[in-house]
Formats: sequence, C-alpha cells, structure tokens
Amino acid sequence: MKVLVLNCGSSSVKFELIETSPELMKKNEEHTLAKGMVDKLGEAYSRHVYNADGKTPLMENVPTETHEQAIRWFLNVLVDPLYGVISSIDEIQAVGHRMVHGGEEFSGSIIINEDVMDGLRRCSKLAPLHNPHNIKGYEITSKLLPGIPEVAVFDTAFHFHMPEYAYLYALPYELYIKHQLRRYGFHGTSHRYISHRASQLLDKPYKDLKIVTAHLGNGCSMAAVKNGKSVDTSMGFTPLEGLVMGTRCGDLDPAIVTFLLEEYRTPREVNLLMNKESGLSGISGISNDMRDLEREYEKKNKRAVLAIDIFCYRIKKYIGAYAAAMGGIDVLVFAGGIGENSPLVRERSCTGLEFMGIKLSPERNEGRGEKLVSADDSKVAVFVIQTKEELVIARDTADCILKKERAEKAASVKK
Ligand code: AMP
Repeated sequence: MKVLVLNCGSSSVKFELIETSPELMKKNEEHTLAKGMVDKLGEAYSRHVYNADGKTPLMENVPTETHEQAIRWFLNVLVDPLYGVISSIDEIQAVGHRMVHGGEEFSGSIIINEDVMDGLRRCSKLAPLHNPHNIKGYEITSKLLPGIPEVAVFDTAFHFHMPEYAYLYALPYELYIKHQLRRYGFHGTSHRYISHRASQLLDKPYKDLKIVTAHLGNGCSMAAVKNGKSVDTSMGFTPLEGLVMGTRCGDLDPAIVTFLLEEYRTPREVNLLMNKESGLSGISGISNDMRDLEREYEKKNKRAVLAIDIFCYRIKKYIGAYAAAMGGIDVLVFAGGIGENSPLVRERSCTGLEFMGIKLSPERNEGRGEKLVSADDSKVAVFVIQTKEELVIARDTADCILKKERAEKAASVKK
C-alpha cells in the first residue's frame, strides 16, 4: 500500500510517500518512494526540497503562501515525468497525518471521519500551535485526494496508558477535571518505534523488557517503556517539560515563572523566553545546535561545556528515575539528531551509571548508524537507533485501513 505521510506545521509541510504492508513489514522491505518538505511558508522565499530513489533531487526557493500550495507542489512532483515516482495520483491509497495532540480522547491511531474531526478540534485547545495546522493538512488532502482513507496518528497516544500517579500534577484535582491539566507526553511514535526496534535487535520479547528511550533532537524527551507500554515520559502538559532542549528549558521550579511575571515580563514574553531563548542556546549564548557546541567544547569554551554538562546531567537523572519507576532497566536507547550523532552526549550521560549496569564501549560508542554501543560486560544493552516516525505513521495508517476492511468483510459475511 502506498501511503502519503503528511506532517503539517505552522510554517512548513513535510511529506513522505511510503510503500508498506504487513507482508513488506515482516520481510523488512518497506521503503520510502519519495520525501520532501516546504518550509518558510509565507516568507519571501519558501524552501522546497524533494528526494526520490534514483531520481535527481530537487531544491528550489520560490514564494509559497499556503499549506495547500505546498501540498499541491508535492503531489505534482510525485507524478512529474522527470522527478516523479508514480504515474498517477490515484496510486496513493491512503494518507497518514501526524497529529500532535490526542488529549484524553484518542488512545491510538484512527481513520478520520466527522466525529474524529470534532474530537481533533476539541483537542486543539491543548495544542493551539500544532493541532490546527495538522487539521488543516487533512482538510486540504481530503479536498485534493477525495475518497482516499485518511488516518490520524498521535504524538501523545503511546503515553495514553501511563498510570494516573505518573500523569497527574500535584495541583488541585479540580483543575484536572475542568481543564484537563495533566501530563500527556509527546514524541510517542518515536518512543514506540525505537523501543520496539531495540527488542528486535536484542531478539527478546518486547513485552518482557524494561526500556528507557531517549529521543534527543531539536525537541528532547525520554520515556520509560515497561512490558511494551509507556509508563512515564519527560514531556508533560506541553513539550516544554523535562529535558534541556535546543531552545527550551525543560524542568524548572514553577515559582520562577511567577517571579518573572511579577518582575518584568508579560505571559507572552515568559513563554517565548522558556521556549525559544533557553535550553542549550540560552545557557551557552552560542547556539541551539549541538554540533556548534561540540566544536566549542573542544576548545574548552566554558559556557559550551556548561551547556553540555547540564544537558547530559538531566538525561542521567531521568535514566535513574525511570529505572526506579520500572524496578530496573534492561535496555537504554539513544535516538534523534543528537542521540544518534553525538558520542560525547551518550558518553557523558552514561558516565557514573556503571553501578546500574550501564557501561558503554568507548570503541562502539564512536561513529554513527544503528548499533549496540554498550560493552560486552554491560548488564544493560545500550543502542543507537535511527528513529522512523514517518514509517510508524504509514504502518498505522495501513493497519487501520486493513482492520476496517476485514471488519466490513466479516460483517457482510454475517449478513
Ligand atoms: P532532529 O530534530 O532529530 O533532526 O535533531 C536535530 C539536532 O540534532 C540538531 O539541532 C543538532 O543539535 C543535532 N545534530 C545533528 N547532527 C549532529 C551531529 N553530527 N553531532 C551532534 N549533534 C547533531
């Protein structure tokens, strides 16, 4: 099944056309036919990028105002005689949409219909910067690709079954009832993929393992995955809680927020400060990009060293916390741009955890790619895994559709 995966952000759209099916999945033969993105929508020049196997890559800067124009552009390139990978748009059999927030309504991926749309709109108040754009993506594709089944896949769903004691804040309970103020967690498709993949690499049943996953990219989060279920995760009501990130502060004393508000900042400014001016960028005063900080770290730049120290110390604390939450740890996984590519971050996050059975192999920890990086005598297996969020969305999309078809078939047989 050819599934178009769409990730619609506020000023960008990312696309991937993936061939998947349960049979291809079993044979490890799913593949990306083409992928692309358009960003800086509405600016003087929007960047358009397109790559497809065996085709000339495409990169152009042209003004593009709307998400619809961006999606039309990608659909046109897909069938272009020179760049395209399909001969007709009709070859697209389904669309999978990344939806950031499923709130307490959506515990898993679901075929989109009018009821689901109502639920998605209700969840928008929990993610006003994300969900409305995700919804817009669906509104556009349902118009441009009419009659094709479309599925919503949620960032929050993998964490849906966290226990109450892990997702509730110690605020008055009425606030939770009235405003659904609680922890939801994000990056769920990534944590699901990398934890499951780790069990495959280890050749042990997923349901028997205690896995700590660290998705370290522009946004960073960790999860405790016990017996195949997320039992805790570091992001909370919003993706601001938890680890130090490129420009986000992560955990802090909430009294700092009231202090800043009382002293000299408006709510909008404090929000901006915590989301865009903090984290690696705020501490170092250099950059939000780990590559820049690592270069400065080599030169012993004090603020770069400090930023990396704080970043890794927070990860280390969460590894300890999640091992405690699960009553042990069998596997630790690093993923995301930083988790995959920074031996330094992995090493500094794991140093001192030998008492828990975590011991990296310095040789294996160097270099890139999916691999085991722990030493032979490490009790805990430590992996680097390239996350595949789009693949999870494509798989879930195909799965939802096949389940529906089977249910319809069974119902018609009964009749
Ligand atoms: P992601 O959001 O997963 O694409 O991750 C993006 C982040 O990964 C960038 O902002 C960098 O901080 C980090 N990153 C990418 N490549 C490297 C690298 N070779 N070494 C260290 N960090 C990297």
